Amino acid sequence: MKPVSNIRNILIVGGGTAGWLTACFLASNLSLAKKAGASPDGISITLVESKEIGIIGVGEGSFPSIRGTLAAIGIDEARFIRECNATFKQGIQFTDWVRPAGAEGDAHYFHPFSHPSQRQGGPELLPYWLLGAAGSGKARRQFADAVSMQKRIADAHRGPKRFDDKDFLGPMNYAYHFDAGKLATLLCEHGKSLGVQQVLATVEHVQLDDDGAIAAVHTKEGLALTADLYVDCTGFRAALIGEALGSPFRNMNDVLFVDRAVAMQVPYAQPDTPIPSYTISTAHEAGWTWDIGLQQRRGIGYVYSSRHTDEARAEQVLRNYIGPASDGMSARLLKLNVGYRETQWVKNCVAIGLSGGFLEPLESSGIGLIETAAYLLTYLFPFNGELAPVATQFNQHMKERYERIIDFVKMHYCLTQRKDSAFWRDNVDPSTIPESLQQRMAMWRCRPPNRMDFVTDLEMYPPSSWQFVLYGMEFQTDMGINQFAYPRFEEAAKEFQMIAQMSQHAMNDLPDHRKLVEHLCKVS
Ligand code: FAD
Repeated sequence: MKPVSNIRNILIVGGGTAGWLTACFLASNLSLAKKAGASPDGISITLVESKEIGIIGVGEGSFPSIRGTLAAIGIDEARFIRECNATFKQGIQFTDWVRPAGAEGDAHYFHPFSHPSQRQGGPELLPYWLLGAAGSGKARRQFADAVSMQKRIADAHRGPKRFDDKDFLGPMNYAYHFDAGKLATLLCEHGKSLGVQQVLATVEHVQLDDDGAIAAVHTKEGLALTADLYVDCTGFRAALIGEALGSPFRNMNDVLFVDRAVAMQVPYAQPDTPIPSYTISTAHEAGWTWDIGLQQRRGIGYVYSSRHTDEARAEQVLRNYIGPASDGMSARLLKLNVGYRETQWVKNCVAIGLSGGFLEPLESSGIGLIETAAYLLTYLFPFNGELAPVATQFNQHMKERYERIIDFVKMHYCLTQRKDSAFWRDNVDPSTIPESLQQRMAMWRCRPPNRMDFVTDLEMYPPSSWQFVLYGMEFQTDMGINQFAYPRFEEAAKEFQMIAQMSQHAMNDLPDHRKLVEHLCKVS
């Protein structure tokens, strides 16, 4: 017999990406009272959101996990592309991260989403790349270019899949860029069709019971909303988990310095301007810019450290990056709370999204963390009404995941060779680098990273992402005496040649990125 739920009512407070994605995921995977054909004993989900406050409306880059999430909640790819002004994202191009603009050496490196090529029974390519099987010295191909076809495909403005590939599938691994406001609207419509009740109201007061748990939330409009479980998706406000329950926020600004963003939306000069299928992340004196190509416009922002520059200078850096297209356009300034709550589930309230934490936009961890939290809540769901054991497991998992993401993001900064500004000099100061990351990098100085370094379920980024960033940032691994453990040098060298040849075929096979997007917009 199925366990009978003691949790009958869930109240989600907040209707941004976090609120609606969680609502859709829960509604798709739990037995809902209001869903057509479902048992009246099922769970009911209500989402209250404030139109007055609105959503943050940024966050336009994603990680490939988003495809699995969209499929799981029942939104098909063509609808998503069409309704969210979306494009494909095959990875991230990092410009000027290793050394400043104009210095001698490679200006860019690429973090592709496809894993390094590995033929069945063939050698693992990373050690052989380190040993020079893909060329040595100046003739050595960059790691991402040597082991994967994706950089060339993306550079040639090709999409990651063919016109007739099935939903969410293609020869290349990929995520999307999208309009955050449109995504919230799509998820809201979809959530309602799955049986989620929407209430438009602003929560003004959170009432606690004698035990310190939430008894009700009261809105400005005079409603008192009660539930068995509350999900705080109120963004940086953290109205429930922070303001009402006081779960401490662990600020990470001593490790990850950026705490402001200034952003603009820039239309394309021509309707057929090619759209890059990757985020362009360019390092500047006190942070970096994101440059994301949607269907009709680019979303561009400078994320910077307020301890290393001021607002006026930051806006100037953004305008210099954009050029004349920024003339006459106003910029939006955002303050970022970089850090997380070590306890994201307190009593009968769980925080998902910015209310739980945020680790700056590099590598798009925001939505990935929402997906993880929504999966955990759904799959660990306390059907027997016992919240404490689930809360413990949830909190442990999220804390470890945050710690690993912090290491991964910090690795981008602390491997720089830039010394041209205090921001970059401070970033390599060992006192700003977590011990866990220092230990990992110390091991990788004398052997390449291995999948055994990672506990997959706790990592947002697969081992290949660590490798692409590590060696893109020109990290040095000395293979030392262990180089003789790699006898398949010739075979690996042939493999590298084969990848280069095959990328030419792939480029002929894959369509232009903009054409692919336009094609999918017409699919009903
Ligand atoms: P919000 O969008 O702020 O939504 C909060 C919701 O709560 C709103 O509906 C609001 O009305 C409601 N609310 C608040 N208070 C009340 C109240 N009292 N009563 C009722 N309702 C209330 N993530 C990525 O994955 N990729 C990226 O590229 C990326 N880039 C980013 C860039 C920047 C500059 C920033 C700041 C964030 C970025 N993020 C990114 C993070 C991403 O934007 C968020 O994770 C995502 O939008 C989820 O936000 P949210 O739903 O938690 O909060």
